Amino acid sequence: MTTTTTLDLTWRVPLAHACDVLVIGGGSAGCSAAVAAAEQGAAVTLVERYGFLGGTGAMVLDTFYGFYTPGTHERKVIGGVPDRVIAGLERRDMVLKRPNTYGAGAGLTYDPDTLKLVWDELTAEAGVDVWHHCTFVDVLREGDRVTGAVLATKQGLRAVRARAVVDASGDADVAARAGAPFEDAGADGTAQSLTTTFRMIDVDVAAARAFPKQALWERMREAAERGDYELPRREGSVHVTPFPNVMHTNMTRVAGVDATDPEQLSRAEREGRRQAFEYARFLREQVPGYERAFLSGLSVQIGVRESRRIKGEYWLTREDVLAAATFPDAVARCGAPIEEHHAGGDTRWEYLPDGETYDIPYRCLLPREIEGVVVAGRCLSASHDAHASVRSIGQCLAMGQAAGVAAALAGDGNLRGVDVDELRRRLVELGALL
Ligand SMILES: Cc1cc2nc3c(=O)[nH]c(=O)nc-3n(C[C@H](O)[C@H](O)[C@H](O)COP(=O)(O)OP(=O)(O)OC[C@H]3O[C@@H](n4cnc5c(N)ncnc54)[C@H](O)[C@@H]3O)c2cc1C
Repeated sequence: MTTTTTLDLTWRVPLAHACDVLVIGGGSAGCSAAVAAAEQGAAVTLVERYGFLGGTGAMVLDTFYGFYTPGTHERKVIGGVPDRVIAGLERRDMVLKRPNTYGAGAGLTYDPDTLKLVWDELTAEAGVDVWHHCTFVDVLREGDRVTGAVLATKQGLRAVRARAVVDASGDADVAARAGAPFEDAGADGTAQSLTTTFRMIDVDVAAARAFPKQALWERMREAAERGDYELPRREGSVHVTPFPNVMHTNMTRVAGVDATDPEQLSRAEREGRRQAFEYARFLREQVPGYERAFLSGLSVQIGVRESRRIKGEYWLTREDVLAAATFPDAVARCGAPIEEHHAGGDTRWEYLPDGETYDIPYRCLLPREIEGVVVAGRCLSASHDAHASVRSIGQCLAMGQAAGVAAALAGDGNLRGVDVDELRRRLVELGALL
C-alpha cells in the first residue's frame, strides 16, 4: 500500500486493563504460550482478532505436522501442551494419524471446528482471559521497553499494560511496531506463496484414493496445458478428513504477495477464491471419485505461509537445519524438511539426515533492540530456507509454550535475563521433548 500523506492524530486511549503476560494472536503459538504462562502462575490476557482460537490451524488447514520425524525410524519430537491438544481431539474421535505422502513425517489430521473448542477448554482451564475481536495496533513503551499494547475494538482503542508481551501474531506485528529489526519476505518479493484451501463434500473417497497422486498431477498438467483450466500449481495435495465423503485440498497458489499490505492481501483473497473454484471444477470434471462432489467450505482467509521474520539474538539458517544443529539454549526441536512453496508449478524439498532433528534456540524468539517482547510461531528469527522447515504447527506449539514459560519467568519483563537452564527445566516438567 502506498502512503502519500501522513495525518498527525492524537487519540485519548482508555487504559482498559493490566496483566502479567499479554499474548497477541490466538493461533497455535499464542494459545500454547497463553496456557503455559497461566499454568506458571501469571495473569494472562490473550488477544485474538477473530472470534475463535486456533489461528491458521483452525481456519486454513486440518493437519498438524512437525510432531514426528520423517524417515524410516519415526520419533516424536514435540510434547507438553501440544499433547493436550491432541488428547482433546482424541476424546471426541476427531483426529487421525496418517503417513505424509511427501515424506514430511506422519501428520495428525483433525476437525478444525473441534480444535477451536479444545482451545476454548484448555485456555479456560488454565485461567487465561481471552479477548476476541480485538486487533493489536500499537505498543505502549517506556524507552526501549514495551510495556503493553493498544488494541482496536468495536468501542474504539483500548490500552492494556503488561510486564511481558508475547508476539504470536504470525506477522511479528508487535516487534515490527516496536521498531525491532526484521526481514520482510513479503516486501522483498521472496515470501512463499499463499493458498486458499477448500473442502470437497460428497466425494467417493475410495475411488478418489485409488487414483494415484502421480496420475492426478499428470492430469492437472495435461488439463492446464490444453488450456481447459487455469491451474498455476500442477501438484498439491488432497487428503481424507475425519468425516465420511469429505476431502480437504491444498492446491491453489497465489505468489508474489506482501501479506501485510492490505491491498495486496485483498487481491490475493479474491484470486485464491477464484482458483479454489477452478480447482474444484477440475476435480469434478477430471478426477475419479469427484463426479458428484461439491466445493463446501473455503478457508476462513487465504493461508499466509511467510511474511515478517524478526532478526533476533540468533538467526536460524539452512545450514543449521540440514546439519541437525544443537544449541545449549534449545527450547524445541524440529525434524521437518525444508518445504518451499515458491512461484511456479512445483515445491522444493530438502531433507535432514534420516531421523535427525535440529534445535530451536531460545535466542530465536528474542527480538533485537527492544525489551519486554518474546515472539513465538512463524515470525521467529530464521532465514527464508530455515523458516520453510520450522514453520509447522508442531514447532509453533512448542515455541509457544517456551515463550509462555519465559514470559512468566521474566517477572520484570526482562526476557533476555531469563535463566535458560530454569526455562528448560520447566519446559521438560511440562512435557516438552528437548
Ligand atoms: C496454506 C498453508 C498450509 C499449511 N499446511 C500446514 C500443514 O498441513 N501442517 C502444518 O503443521 N503446518 C502447515 N502450515 C504452516 C502452519 O500452518 C503455520 O506456520 C502455523 O499455523 C503458524 O502458527 P502461528 O501460531 O505462528 O500463526 P497463526 O496460526 O497464523 O496465528 C496468528 C494468530 O494471530 C492473529 N492475529 C494476527 N494479527 C493480529 C493482530 N494484529 N491482532 C490480533 N490478532 C492477530 C490471527 O488471527 C491468528 O489467529 C501451512 C500454512 C499455510 C499457509
